[in-house]
Amino acid sequence: MPSRLAILGSTGSIGVNTLKVVDGHPKRFKVVALSAYTNIALLKEQIKRYQPAYVAAKASVLVQLKQEFCSLRIKFFDVEREAACLAGLREIDTVVLAMRGAGALAPFLEAVRAGKRVAAANKEALVIAGDLIMKEARKYKAVIIPIDSEQSAIFQCLDGQKAPVRRVHLTASGGPLQEVAARDFSKMTVKDILRHPRWQMGPKITVDSATLMNKGFEFIEAQRLFGLSFDQINILIHPQAIVHSMVEFSDGSILAQLGVTDMRLPIQYALTYPQRLDTGLKPLDLVQWQSLTFQKPNLKKFPALGLALEVAQKGGTLPCVLNAADEEAVDAFLKEKINFTSIYKVVEKVVRRHKIEKKPSLFDIYAADEWARQEARTILWR
Ligand code: MG
Repeated sequence: MPSRLAILGSTGSIGVNTLKVVDGHPKRFKVVALSAYTNIALLKEQIKRYQPAYVAAKASVLVQLKQEFCSLRIKFFDVEREAACLAGLREIDTVVLAMRGAGALAPFLEAVRAGKRVAAANKEALVIAGDLIMKEARKYKAVIIPIDSEQSAIFQCLDGQKAPVRRVHLTASGGPLQEVAARDFSKMTVKDILRHPRWQMGPKITVDSATLMNKGFEFIEAQRLFGLSFDQINILIHPQAIVHSMVEFSDGSILAQLGVTDMRLPIQYALTYPQRLDTGLKPLDLVQWQSLTFQKPNLKKFPALGLALEVAQKGGTLPCVLNAADEEAVDAFLKEKINFTSIYKVVEKVVRRHKIEKKPSLFDIYAADEWARQEARTILWR
């Protein structure tokens, strides 16, 4: 029996790579549901090729899609209001959460409550409501396997281990600005920032990699996913991005996961776990790299990471506010409305103004998200 997939965010970078994994093992997987937000042309190609039974897209294009694919008997949903419906479908075994942003929270919770395997590339949902998601996952026996390369590495190093964990070493390539002087940051254009040295990713996460905010989110994500305390997580800058992360056990032994920088590796692992199949990727040539280096992150040069670490410790609704403010500020940068250094300034202002709700309900989280976006927009457009 093939594993039946719902791919939420099928036209983004993770979604496209997930479909490449499917193409590599067509007998093992069946695409049952797809959802996309902006790239309708690609979604149409995917519908033709994979003929899913369910599709979610923006309400404004649903009539057009229904007409074009009337012979396929597809059930259509509004992606903005009903993405969660796809995540809970009975005909699905695995939900690939490839959509970005806080909007993934509802489908994430739905998938977990339906006891699915969740291959999670989205980190925002875990950052803003990770405790709630993990609690529900335990209750409904859902399996969450991270796709984010660092979290996948930690997951792989922990698999089958019973010994207590002393520390986790979360690696960061450092993004495109490691070699750029901080005084030149304000001159960085969108084009400069989107040129990531090691990873091909979507624009939002590439900007977050440049500020190192992405690593701050991953710090919070790792704490939630693996039930760690924050002082057990050590961030290391590792520009070669060959070691995707490491786990140090109580005896001082460290296990690392190494691999090429291609997201098909962690995606396929999340889909086939505990099995491993050929990925067709070129093997990692360690000799070519000569040396692998590790250093402490510079929090003065990259204040967004320092802010994220502080926010992580304070907890409650604050990580949600950090995420929402960052989404708004990065969006403004990508639209060339603010410069690169203003991203941090906007996010910091919003974070400082927030009154933390220590033990938030789902309602409190949505309210904090909305408050932070309004606050960020007020600062941005003033
Ligand atoms: Mg990552």
